[in-house]
Amino acid sequence: MPQILDGKKVAQKLKDELKIEIDNLKSKFNCVPGLAVIQVGNVSASSVYVKAKTKAAKEVGINVFDHHLEETTNQDKLINLINQLNIDKNINGILVQLPLPKTINEEIVLNSIIPEKDADGFHPLNVGKLSISQKNDEKLLIPCTPYGCLLLLRELNINLAGKNAVVIGRSNIVGKPMSQLLLKESCTITTVHSKTVNIESICKNADILVAAIGKPEFVKKNWVKEGAIVIDVGINRIKINEEKSKLVGDVLFSEVENIVSAITPVPGGVGPMTIACLLRNTTIAFKNSNNV
Ligand code: NAP
Repeated sequence: MPQILDGKKVAQKLKDELKIEIDNLKSKFNCVPGLAVIQVGNVSASSVYVKAKTKAAKEVGINVFDHHLEETTNQDKLINLINQLNIDKNINGILVQLPLPKTINEEIVLNSIIPEKDADGFHPLNVGKLSISQKNDEKLLIPCTPYGCLLLLRELNINLAGKNAVVIGRSNIVGKPMSQLLLKESCTITTVHSKTVNIESICKNADILVAAIGKPEFVKKNWVKEGAIVIDVGINRIKINEEKSKLVGDVLFSEVENIVSAITPVPGGVGPMTIACLLRNTTIAFKNSNNV
């Protein structure tokens, strides 16, 4: 039987640790980390994510400042808000929920957040720091989803050094930082994508396979080596019938679970870790600003 990497449980453990840490920081500094959450428009999935992030942040003792802007908000107004938050001493982390309306350039908006308050870890300076840092990740603002995947891998208590790791996907928010993180752990990394030739045989060679594609149940049993560890980042909603739908990952769990040594479920795997790591980044930003 494979080990099912329970993201809910590991995320709760991280949140419990953060709550204790934030209580201690409160005693020392008489203030707590502050997170500004900006949502533009009413995309329903975004509203669900914002609600979950806000709830989790409050649970660990982070002050949340909600900014829900209208769909018609223009880029200048959004950047003005970010500029105010950039200099607000009560705010340590700024999160802009993606996607933004098509009239707004996401890259310009994300880059207007100062790197010190970049709760998502997407700013070029933070991306650069991740790629050149050798060891300590305690002060870095690292993209939440891939860092959550790494924490799940660490739960296995195995030596990651020298493992063959294949990351499917090269997005800036998941695939690329995931490869960087695994490289830092001294894995041998292959990043594959939509133009990769012989993708199946490359994946079949992986001791650790991370799927971040966005295609439901795309990775089948014949892509996976026996005994491999599989981290499924995908979150895809598929229809079961006219009325019902369900969430599935990028990996065909029912087939693959029979041959792997460990695997993340969807839902309940990587998803909860992403939120917990956002809270971790906000706490790190607070500590960095107070020279802790
Ligand atoms: P993305 O920006 O769309 O990137 C998808 C990547 O998959 C791209 O690099 C793409 O290659 C590659 N790809 C697409 N089709 C492929 C194929 N047929 N063969 C091989 N590679 C292929 O997506 P993302 O933002 O990284 O997200 C990936 C998945 O993770 C989505 O399901 C998303 O919902 C989920 N996600 C989950 C969380 C969480 O908290 N669990 C967080 C973020 C994202 P090219 O670069 O060549 O186009």
